[in-house]
Amino acid sequence: CFVQKSEPSVSVDSRNDAEERVVVLVVGGGGREHALCHALKLSPSCDAVFCAPGNAGISSSEDATCISDLDIFDSSAVIAFCRQWGVGLVVVGPEAPLVSGLANNLVKAGIPTFGPSSEAAALEGSKNFMKSLCDKYNIPTAKYKTFTDPSAAKEYILEQGAPIVIKADGLAAGKGVIVAMTLEEAYEAVDSMLVKNVFGSAGCCVIVEEFLEGEEASFFALVDGENAIPLESAQDHKRVGDGDTGPNTGGMGAYSPAPILTKELQSIVMESIILPTVEGMSAEGCKFVGVLFAGLMIEKKSGLPKLIEYNVRFGDPECQVLMVRLESDLAQVLLAACRGELTGVTLDWSPGSAMVVVMASKGYPGSYEKGTVIQNLEESELVAPSVKIFHAGTALDSDGNFIATGGRVLGVTATGKDLAEARDRAYQAVEEINWPGGFYRRDIGWRALPLKQFARER
Ligand code: AMP
Repeated sequence: CFVQKSEPSVSVDSRNDAEERVVVLVVGGGGREHALCHALKLSPSCDAVFCAPGNAGISSSEDATCISDLDIFDSSAVIAFCRQWGVGLVVVGPEAPLVSGLANNLVKAGIPTFGPSSEAAALEGSKNFMKSLCDKYNIPTAKYKTFTDPSAAKEYILEQGAPIVIKADGLAAGKGVIVAMTLEEAYEAVDSMLVKNVFGSAGCCVIVEEFLEGEEASFFALVDGENAIPLESAQDHKRVGDGDTGPNTGGMGAYSPAPILTKELQSIVMESIILPTVEGMSAEGCKFVGVLFAGLMIEKKSGLPKLIEYNVRFGDPECQVLMVRLESDLAQVLLAACRGELTGVTLDWSPGSAMVVVMASKGYPGSYEKGTVIQNLEESELVAPSVKIFHAGTALDSDGNFIATGGRVLGVTATGKDLAEARDRAYQAVEEINWPGGFYRRDIGWRALPLKQFARER
């Protein structure tokens, strides 16, 4: 088995002389959590990193000690683990345990936790909550109205005309947003949510929203309840196919920095969107601690950003490219966020670029085969300098081979002096991996770089 079932062994790292030492638990088991574990392991003040449940790649790369049998939805078990192993910082990766109140319970037990309370996680969990906050605190977003009655929604749609956007209020596994190009599509979306209830309670209230035209961008900030500091820019590719075609996925690759987010635009986003959100949440008695991940539309006509949505955790795979560029002590920065002490904290970033190419099981985001064997991973990390493979969905079989257990499986990540060098290194490593059951996009970074043929057909 790739993980410790009990009595994990902790090797204390004595690399440094930072004042405060900390043992960290990362909650989650995907590529994002692997990248967080890697950056925490490199944090001078970090004594040990645990990851629950983790995955085979996290464990075999020794970025963390994985605790596969710790139930991350059982707060009492997580608290007991933290007490037993002297965990002084919990970093929660995915939104599901946040929504279920893990951060609330850990904080109540006196354990510093980087991630919002379930109430603050409503910024992601309820579009209606997010839009109301935007209204109240003057945060630029698409004009909208909320409906529970299908006839009233259709009347409003007719008044506004197409294209128009229909959104389910709650979490709908990434399928609750319909960008309707015609009135008929919009009516159909309303019926599917309010009449047929295809999203259950997540769709019993819909938001009908103005269609925004422009280029999308992601923006990340660390928040300590009262203050926020921006992270470097990063951009992902959501569609499964080259040229941003085909169905949406969790993300097929990412790069950092993202040229679309100029320094000027970043400060506009901080001033007009992030800080008013943080202040608004605090004024509502719902302080936000964690990562605010804003999905933005940079509007074509004005060049200014509008908020499309909030996520309350790091993006995956954007986290991977941010973590390999971060040079600050991540554990100390996240502890400062938990303590409300981010004011004055500055982050150091490597001056170059990073790219992650996601390798997924053939068939993803539809159905795919599990258990296909992946070889040459170690060799591929060595084929070019500065390559790191983050595992998202792997396990070890009885022969010690890595096998694919999920849709998105590997995040092949590289840094370089510029984006072209990072891309060349990442694709060199991808080409070295022997995985007939997998595929990847060949054009990650195309918006930021001239298109180039990367690899032959696999
Ligand atoms: P969301 O889950 O709200 O981020 O929406 C998913 C995707 O739908 C976004 O990434 C956009 O591509 C698109 N979208 C959402 N809202 C709008 C809007 N108001 N105008 C245009 N496209 C939108």
